[in-house]
Amino acid sequence: MQKNIRNFCIISHIDHGKSTLADRFLEITETIPKEKMRAQFLDMMALERERGITIKMQPVRMVYKLNLKSYILNLIDTPGHVDFSYEVSRGLAAVEGAILLVDATKGIQAQTLYHLSEAKKQGLEIIPAVNKIDLWQADIDKTKKEIRKLLPGAGEIFEISAKLGTNVKELLKEIIKRVPPPKGDDKAPLRALIFDSQYDPYKGVIAFVKIVDGEIQPGEKIYFLRKKSLGIAKEIGYFKPEMAPSQRLKAGEIGYIVTGIKEPGQVRVGDTIGSFKLQTSNFKIQPLPGYKEPKPVVFASIYPENPDDFPKLQKALLELQLTDPAFNFEPEKKKAFGQGFNCSFLGNLHAEIVVERLRREFSLSLIVSRPQVVYKIVEKNGAFYFVSSAQDFPENLQDKEVQERWVRLEILTPQNFLGPVLTLLESLEGRHLGTEYLGEERLILIYETPLREIMRGFYDKLKGVSQGFASLNYELGDWRKSDLVKLEILIAREKEELFSQIVPKDKIFLEGKKLVQKLKTILPPQQFPVALQAKVGGKIIARETIRAKRKDVTAPLYGGDYTRKRKLLEKQKRGKKKLQEIGKVRIPAKVYLEMLKE
Ligand code: GDP
Ligand code: MG
Repeated sequence: MQKNIRNFCIISHIDHGKSTLADRFLEITETIPKEKMRAQFLDMMALERERGITIKMQPVRMVYKLNLKSYILNLIDTPGHVDFSYEVSRGLAAVEGAILLVDATKGIQAQTLYHLSEAKKQGLEIIPAVNKIDLWQADIDKTKKEIRKLLPGAGEIFEISAKLGTNVKELLKEIIKRVPPPKGDDKAPLRALIFDSQYDPYKGVIAFVKIVDGEIQPGEKIYFLRKKSLGIAKEIGYFKPEMAPSQRLKAGEIGYIVTGIKEPGQVRVGDTIGSFKLQTSNFKIQPLPGYKEPKPVVFASIYPENPDDFPKLQKALLELQLTDPAFNFEPEKKKAFGQGFNCSFLGNLHAEIVVERLRREFSLSLIVSRPQVVYKIVEKNGAFYFVSSAQDFPENLQDKEVQERWVRLEILTPQNFLGPVLTLLESLEGRHLGTEYLGEERLILIYETPLREIMRGFYDKLKGVSQGFASLNYELGDWRKSDLVKLEILIAREKEELFSQIVPKDKIFLEGKKLVQKLKTILPPQQFPVALQAKVGGKIIARETIRAKRKDVTAPLYGGDYTRKRKLLEKQKRGKKKLQEIGKVRIPAKVYLEMLKE
């Protein structure tokens, strides 16, 4: 049975045509009836369709007949953006082969180089294909040369048009020919790798699995080897791509298991599912290696706009984490917003997508801080701790050292954009490590720079200066000493912690001035002049003043409705008193939100 299974994924950069190629496969194999077909079928989330990017990996099982033999083809469509690399790495671990798909108008991109090297490490069979050959801008020869350089031993490089379907059938046949069938043993005890999961309000946690060894049938008691929790396979099945129940999943197959578990925290991606019966006997099953835990890159605070929604937010985060195990959260409290969570993400786009999903899929109104990288504070005696928000950053750095994470940055750019790309790179702290050539007209620039530097719109800037042609990838490196300090904001001489920032020492005057000026434009005038000050290490480094304004609350009242007038004036007085109690100046939530934005 296993001999006719092929599990594969498509490695490519955003927009190189991965989802479109998957569409053609779905058509050729008649997995989706013609009348139901639509472009980028596997991008199932509304958010993916709107933004035109794949966020979630999506498995699909197809059946194809070749030379009278029927083959099961499992394709996992994975995202291409740097922030979703964890999705890709999980996808790679569940398959035996990969199509390397490269847009002939763009050439290989930095991210793809990284995924390709991961695929090679896992020993996947790689089948290269050049896409979009129907476009006049396509430079097929150049693109093939680049691929040859990276994969000297690769066989035929396919020239396809995913849009028109040119040579797509041939590519599909090549997968059957070259990708090896999965190795597992269907007579051995059950071991299923959870590569993804999802929460269903009725069914509970659904684990997406690759059955590595053995087989499973509905009704079986199951055991999660690392979490040591129990479940029952209430339903099992395949992805078509929607879930379709079946009576059996065997070694080598990709499918899902409805676990009967209602608590999202009980199931973790990377865990191994075994048979409960065997677990209770003396026979010990070894868990599969699973995945490296992803390293958080940026942190942001998320608060419910309505404080009563805190439990709802907590539940939403737990459920969302099942479909996106790359983010984490911990409860925290902030004066202005109440109870919320400090969340970690793999990058800014990742943070943005998670927040957007919370808003849409769980109908939550949220307050979200700007994503921050994490810093390490090292005491004189060597003890250290991490901070991920300016509020927790020490004001006084005597006897302390601040360290931050550096990255190795790879930029791939066509030669003709080298000038503007270099100018952009010069604006970063950091240093050029080297340059490599990929083909004749494209270069890989290797840099090292603080992570902080590339977390502030760097990706967009790079796209901007290169008309979209340059791409980047980075890998986390070591911690290094840095010259960062805490910049505080005082409003009417009261420190407003939520406006504090972490800034490089040589930029304090610039940043301080920018902040107080911004605050001046968005903070409504009060009934007294308000001083806005920026302070670093006990010294005021910038200052602005908002002039006083007295609002005549009785203005809309004509004539002699005296009691009404008095009531209003009294209310104003009460209000003023209340304002004094919370530091004199009333800061509307809107101002906090505005200040949190870049
Ligand atoms: P993905 O981000 O890799 O999944 O890329 P998509 O499949 O979403 O494709 C990105 C864009 O390229 C879409 O507008 C597609 O219609 C277009 N596209 C994909 N393949 C081809 C092709 O072979 N020829 C042309 N002309 N356009 C293509
Ligand atoms: Mg896609």
